[in-house]
Amino acid sequence: MPARLSSSSASVSAAHGRGHSTVLSDPMTGEPTGHHDIDASALIIEENKTLREPPPSSSLVFGHSFADHMLAVNWNGATGWAAPRIQPYGPLTLDPSSVIFHYAPSLFEGMKAYKDVEGRVRLFRPDMNMKRMNTSAERMALPTFSGKELTKLIAKLVSLDSNWIPSEPGYSLYIRPTLIGTQAALGVHPANDALLFVISSPVGPYYKTGFKPVALEADPSLVRAWPGGVGQYKLGANYGPGIRVQMEAAKRGYQQNLWLFGEEHWLTEVGTMNLFVALKRDDGSTELVTPPLNGTILPGVTRDSILGLARDHVSKKAPIEGLPDNLVVSEREINMGEIIKASEKGSLIEMFGAGTAAIVSPVDRVGFKGRDIQIPAGEEGAGPIAKAMLKSITDIQLGRVNHPWSVLVEDLL
Ligand SMILES: *Cc1c(COP(=O)(O)O)cnc(C)c1O
Repeated sequence: MPARLSSSSASVSAAHGRGHSTVLSDPMTGEPTGHHDIDASALIIEENKTLREPPPSSSLVFGHSFADHMLAVNWNGATGWAAPRIQPYGPLTLDPSSVIFHYAPSLFEGMKAYKDVEGRVRLFRPDMNMKRMNTSAERMALPTFSGKELTKLIAKLVSLDSNWIPSEPGYSLYIRPTLIGTQAALGVHPANDALLFVISSPVGPYYKTGFKPVALEADPSLVRAWPGGVGQYKLGANYGPGIRVQMEAAKRGYQQNLWLFGEEHWLTEVGTMNLFVALKRDDGSTELVTPPLNGTILPGVTRDSILGLARDHVSKKAPIEGLPDNLVVSEREINMGEIIKASEKGSLIEMFGAGTAAIVSPVDRVGFKGRDIQIPAGEEGAGPIAKAMLKSITDIQLGRVNHPWSVLVEDLL
């Protein structure tokens, strides 16, 4: 029997002293539009009567098992967001004419819930995921929403399914917020019905037995994203086309693609991760380079975190052990010509991908135009910068150090 549970959430807004209006207003006139925003205090919980046993952590395969509950929020163009529901995890029923199946109005996020050293549940920078999800929604003509309210609902979902968060270090609950256009109509126009849902999946650490550096294939004839395109948004349609490309690279012994752009062969991203390169400079300093957010780069939360931590190290606000003292942090374009030159000079010292799944993924080889460029990956399979970043970020995620990026779920309920 669905139960309307509003008391706990209502007390949250009361405690914060800012009872929120859930009717949206027109940004130009300030007039109420009659559309409702997502309202966590209207949450309806239908508990799963047939709880399952989470699989043993040692047997987890990324994204193959799902926790007992899911969050679902319907949206309609006339009324806005309906009351959010937490319900048993299970199939959706959609009309075959739903726009999602024809024109792919679909976007997603990837974030994780962690059990900290004291067994409390934490999220890492959820505000960044909410902001990015809204940016993707706007681009895809899907409805936007209050990120604060969705974060509260996600907190509710993961605390209800907290037995699905593995407590071994390095394990976590991967959270997949998704937004799709569901209107049953074949016209190519903004969807008048949409569904936002959140599912979660227990996942293991990327590296169980030490780092495994990857080899990348850089094929200049392939393009992931282009200026004026949609590569900077986490749209489902950006990912399907990369699968075939990765399969082809794998046949030639490369685990991932290094996506290039343009005749200058600008480096953009590694598979579905952001890219970092470390170069030794003539003055003895080390430059940490990542391509700028120029429209073809997905604004990764991990990318932003690495940049922030590296800059705090440089400014001495929060020095990180293992990072070079003389570090320069650059968001700038870098191309294959510069990589080849640096490799020949011996000044190419590190390369790694960065993303929520692995945090860092060291690279030891890049195949480009029929030859392989070797990249040092250290004795342990990762260079000093990748190692230091992995440690700093996991220390924050697991609450080993106090940091505003790590949010306790109990503080969101
Ligand atoms: C999700 C994603 C990333 C990494 O983003 P995080 O927020 O760090 O997980 C990087 N590149 C692409 C193409 C992505 O889809």
